[in-house]
Parts: sequence; C-alpha cells; structure tokens
Amino acid sequence: MTPRSVPVDEFDLVVFGGTGDLSRRKILPALYKRFCAGQMPGQSRLIGAARSDMGRAAYQAFVREALEEFANVDGSTQLDGFLDRLDYVTLDARGDTGWADLAKKMVPGRVRAFYFSVGPSLFGDLAQGLQKWNLSDDQSRIVVEKPFGHDLETARALNRELACHFDERQIYRIDHYLGKETVQNLMAVRFGNMLFEPLWNSQYIDHIQITVAETVGVGGRGAYYERAGAMRDMMQNHMMQLLCLIAMEPPAKFEPDSVRDEKLKVIRALDPVEPHHIQRGQYTASDGVLSFREDVENARSKTESFIALKCHISNWRWAGTPFYLRTGKRLATRSSEITVVFKDAPHSIFGPEAGRHNNELTIQLQPDEGITLDVTIKEPGPGGMRLIDVPLDMSFAEALGPEADSPDAYERLIIDVIRGNQTLFMRNDEVEAAWAWTDPIIQGWEARGDVPKPYDAFTTGPDGALQMVRRDGRDWRGIRR
Ligand code: NAP
Repeated sequence: MTPRSVPVDEFDLVVFGGTGDLSRRKILPALYKRFCAGQMPGQSRLIGAARSDMGRAAYQAFVREALEEFANVDGSTQLDGFLDRLDYVTLDARGDTGWADLAKKMVPGRVRAFYFSVGPSLFGDLAQGLQKWNLSDDQSRIVVEKPFGHDLETARALNRELACHFDERQIYRIDHYLGKETVQNLMAVRFGNMLFEPLWNSQYIDHIQITVAETVGVGGRGAYYERAGAMRDMMQNHMMQLLCLIAMEPPAKFEPDSVRDEKLKVIRALDPVEPHHIQRGQYTASDGVLSFREDVENARSKTESFIALKCHISNWRWAGTPFYLRTGKRLATRSSEITVVFKDAPHSIFGPEAGRHNNELTIQLQPDEGITLDVTIKEPGPGGMRLIDVPLDMSFAEALGPEADSPDAYERLIIDVIRGNQTLFMRNDEVEAAWAWTDPIIQGWEARGDVPKPYDAFTTGPDGALQMVRRDGRDWRGIRR
C-alpha cells in the first residue's frame, strides 16, 4: 500500500530560524522527504531566514549537512534537486535588516507560509514585520511553535498580538503530537468503527491512562526546562491534546472547527485537580547520568521532570471515569501510549477459579505505532476452562508492510499548512482553556512551596505515582523496565 500524496499548490515556505536546532532536526528533513514524495510542485521553495550572515550556497551546504545527519540521504539522487529549491536571507526579526531582501525574493501568486521557528519572544516582531514589509496577504499563513505562552496571561497576550496582524484562520499553532499517524488513527478507530463508540463511556470503561515516557534528560535545554517543567512542557499541550482526542464527542465532520469545538468542550469540562491527585518528581544522578538539578544548574530547583495526575471530565459520557496522565524524563523506557481499560464482565459464568479478566485497548504512539486489543480466550489444552488474555495485535508496520512508512508528524503538518487545513492545529481558545486549567495547579505548588520527589533515573518515576493509582485498585501500564 503506497501512502497517497495529496497534490498541493506551488508554495514559498519561509522558515524564520532556518539555522536553528528545530529546523535542522525536523523542518528541513520533513520538507526534504515531501520533496522526494513529489509534494514541492513547480518551483516551490524553502527560504531560510536568520541573523547569521551567509549566502545561498553556504545555506545549501548547511542544509546538506543537516540532512546527512537527520534524514536518510545516503545515495539519494534527489538531494541536489532539493538543495536547488533553497534560498536564504540574512534577517533580524527585531530590526530592519533583511526584510526588503526577503520581499524581493517572494514570488507573487504562490501560497506563502511563514514558519516561526524562533523563540516565542520574537513571534510578535515577526508578525509585525510581515505586515510592515507587505510580505503577507489574507491567504498567507503563519506557523508558531510551542511553547505558546508561559501561563494564561502570556498566552492571551500572544494571541492578541498575533491577532493584530493575522486572522485566526491564518494562524497554525503546532503541536507535533497531533501530526502523528497513530494520533489520527485514534479518531479513525473511534469514529470509523461501529465496534468501539457504543462502549466509549463510563458505563463500560473503567479508566483511561496516558503515558508519555522519555529516557532522555533535559539535554541542552536546561534553562528552558527549569522555567517550564513537565507540566508546561508536556501536560498543558501534548498530553491535553491526547486527552481531548480520546475523550471528545464525535465531531459532526472531520473539519477544523468541528474537531476543535469538541476538543475545547473536553478541556472546559475538566474538573480542577485535587493536590493529592498529583505527583511530581525530579530524577536524581544514577547510572552515569547527571541529576535533574545538575542538568538545569540549580541545586535548589523545584521544577518537575516528572508529573502524574488523576483527573475527571464532568460530562455525561465520562462522569466517574478517572483519567490518569503521566509524563517524565529519564524514565525506564521511551514509550508513549494510551490504554483504555474496560470494566470486568458483569458476571463470570466460569467461576472464581477462571480469574478476573477485562479488555484493554492500547494505542501505542512511540516507539512503534500500533494498536492492541487484549481479549480473553480459553487457555489452550485440556484440564477445564482456564482463561487468559491475549493481544489482538495490529502493528502498523506489520499490517501495512514496508510501504506503511508513514510521514513524520512534521511532514504531515507542514503540508497541512500549505493545503490550508487547520484540523490538526490548536485554536486560540483551546490553548487558553488548557492554560486556564493548568494555571491554578502550578499556582498551588508555588503557594505551598511544593518540592518534587526524587526518583532514580531509568525507573518508573517516584513511588507516589505508583501508589496514587494503586490506592484506586489499579496499575499503570506503559513503562516496562
Ligand atoms: P535555536 O536552535 O536557538 O534556534 C533559533 C533560531 O532563531 C536560529 O536560527 C537563530 O539564528 C534564529 N534567531 C534568533 N534570533 C533571531 C532574530 N532576532 N532574528 C531572526 N532570527 C533569529 O532554537 P530551536 O531549538 O530551533 O527552537 C525554535 C523554536 O521551536 C522555539 O520556539 C522552541 O521553543 C521551539 N521548539 C523547539 C524544539 C526543538 O526540539 N528544538 C521542539 C519544540 C519546539 P541566528 O542566531 O542566526 O539569528
């Protein structure tokens, strides 16, 4: 099965911050792959823009190096063709340098997309510059990266600032989790099959858990992470988006505002979280790695590298069903998965010796994307009716073959920007609602002087997180030691 490439119009994609880490690791490889898939029609181009003084040839060499490191370009016959589609302009977001040069490079009649791959403090300057130098029209799009604000107030200010220069329909707030194949499959599984949706409620589902576990520490992003922590870096955006997709009502159509309206309703229906339903942690030095406090260079840091919480959605569908969310760094495995744990059958005809069994649907986002449904069957062999749970496994790689090598999230999202499809991007009110839920939790920690609990690196996090779930007679899935 060959992934279909939807034809797109000829475009110019300007990447502000085209020399940065995100460009090197994600944006440039993503566009290169789309070029190879035939999705840079005509003379479509990528124009890098940053303060570094370099010409087109130097930028091409810079991109070649980035692709050699982050995209599989060995023996590629397409690389030179892609490099030929690149241009560069030396430009300062905060001054007048380079804007006139950029204006001269733009070709009329093409789709114009401007990717703000710079720190958020420059978003307003860039939006203003695009207008001042007449670079954008009402069909142009801007893509803004996370973090979108530090709290509700800053997110609102940023929304207001962007709204001075662009309509909401032109603003693409990226959350790359939404571009993942399996995340979209979540919607396909829920709304494309008759099997699941009738059972998708508190009557049949015992609880849902979402784990996003990383083995890496904060790496070179210590200063940023010390200010953000797991709550702002992961929970407020990626985890919240996953929660929305798993819990939302079926949208009337798979269209941007239908989907985003339903996601917004989920966030707005979230109850405030009780302090004892939150566990925060910080990794300590072990197994040859530095501690979180060493990584962020603050011996008294109160920032969390791990958070687990239990929350409730107050609506008819979910009243009484807990959602357990957990994310952290330096955990035992790299794994992102959502597990929907169904209730036990109301009555077992097999007697107590058959044990208790229930169904679980696991949606694995990484490292391997796939969906598993645990079903209860008879253990093979003579000797009576003993039951076991076995997985009905649908690894996408196995089911769909090598051609299932699906586009990376950034590939999909960049092409969605070019196509003008906002379904997988966050709307202003969604982002603000997520902050409105998050802010009181963070303010509570600050008021109480809450200090995260230490946990050993490469484990499942602090013991309190395990106990929080076990007290409810349940257990976490997802991080296997
Ligand atoms: P970075 O490596 O520090 O790169 C920043 C880029 O912005 C560089 O190209 C820099 O080039 C340019 N820049 C800085 N000041 C500028 C100015 N005044 N005018 C024009 N260009 C300027 O940062 P990054 O890691 O790529 O992150 C970019 C954005 O993506 C940030 O908002 C970040 O939070 C977000 N993000 C990054 C990652 C990631 O994995 N890296 C993941 C998610 C989100 P010059 O110094 O040459 O100007």
